[in-house]
Amino acid sequence: MIYLDCAATTLQKPPAVVRAAAWAVGRLATPGRGGHPAAAQAAALAFRCREEAAALFGVADPERVIFTANATHALNIAIRSLVPPGGRVVLSGWEHNAVTRPLAALDAKVRIAATPLFRPQAALDAFRAAVEPGVDAVICTHVSNVFGYTLPVADIAALCRQRGVPLIVDAAQSAGCLPLDLDGWGAAFIAMPGHKGLYGPQGTGLLLCGRQVRTAPLLYGGTGSASASPEMPPFLPDRLEAGTHNMPGIAGLLQGLRFVRCMGTGRILAHERRLTAQAAGGLKRLSRVRVFSGPAQTGVLSFQIAGVDCEEAAARLGQMGIAVRAGLHCAPMAHESGGTFEEGTVRASFSAFNTQGEAARLVRCVARLTGR
Ligand code: PLP
Repeated sequence: MIYLDCAATTLQKPPAVVRAAAWAVGRLATPGRGGHPAAAQAAALAFRCREEAAALFGVADPERVIFTANATHALNIAIRSLVPPGGRVVLSGWEHNAVTRPLAALDAKVRIAATPLFRPQAALDAFRAAVEPGVDAVICTHVSNVFGYTLPVADIAALCRQRGVPLIVDAAQSAGCLPLDLDGWGAAFIAMPGHKGLYGPQGTGLLLCGRQVRTAPLLYGGTGSASASPEMPPFLPDRLEAGTHNMPGIAGLLQGLRFVRCMGTGRILAHERRLTAQAAGGLKRLSRVRVFSGPAQTGVLSFQIAGVDCEEAAARLGQMGIAVRAGLHCAPMAHESGGTFEEGTVRASFSAFNTQGEAARLVRCVARLTGR
């Protein structure tokens, strides 16, 4: 199988990730629970993982790196921390259900900053018009999981700082391939999965918390600290990490973060862009294929085939040995912005482990589908 569904989760992991996760099972206990060596070793490893993430993502204090189960979990904590029931929020036009559904549950009043395809300046102007003092939060996906389009997050962060509005960045598709700088941007939170571009195991995610940011736990329970109190501890990371940690996941994630640091996000991005451009170029030459590609794109490429339903196209590509995803990709808003809500798209998404040969094979298989 040629796996081109890396925007959902990366399947090909660095061997060190697999080894570390398997090693941790049956060896590491829970950080902060007990003075025995298995707990101490777990605490040391968890701290190394926080340090690695802090160094990669511009966080001065590793304690402000929180382990979560995935990006959705991290976004839910961030939203619950900043947005009261009925609160006011500004969103990009590309947000995932991991953002819009928690906001709907809070009955939040949402204003959308119109986000046209591949026009970052227009997106920034829309944020300028929408963000006003008194808004509870701005939430912005860094890279669209449908179109691979990148939003100018550093500029949006500067705007939010000027207007005194906290910013939550959804880095689900950018962590591992674009620079992230929590403290430099002055963002309130950055949420990310560990299992996509950071190459960690499924069941891992990170929430980076800004300096002095208000935090509200999503889960309440044991932390191994301040145990006499009925309240969650006021300090991070314990305040946001109730319950036993996913130590095999964290051990694997540490190796994934090291892989990304070693490769460099710039090199990974360049590789993914090369594959996206190659596939987009090949697909554009096919007469019935509509390709969504443009500048500032990452390793995510959407397309449609005239006369072939996108689910059908993905199923037939699957039969030819190519794993892609079809439909709305949990991001109906992005399809409304991109004008593809009715039909959805077929999405191919690349990682550091995909090759030019695989991109070429995708194009050949789509050509067969179009009858060429
Ligand atoms: N946000 C975006 C932009 C995503 O693409 C995804 C996953 O596809 C998520 C959030 C949710 O990530 P997770 O599956 O890790 O919860």
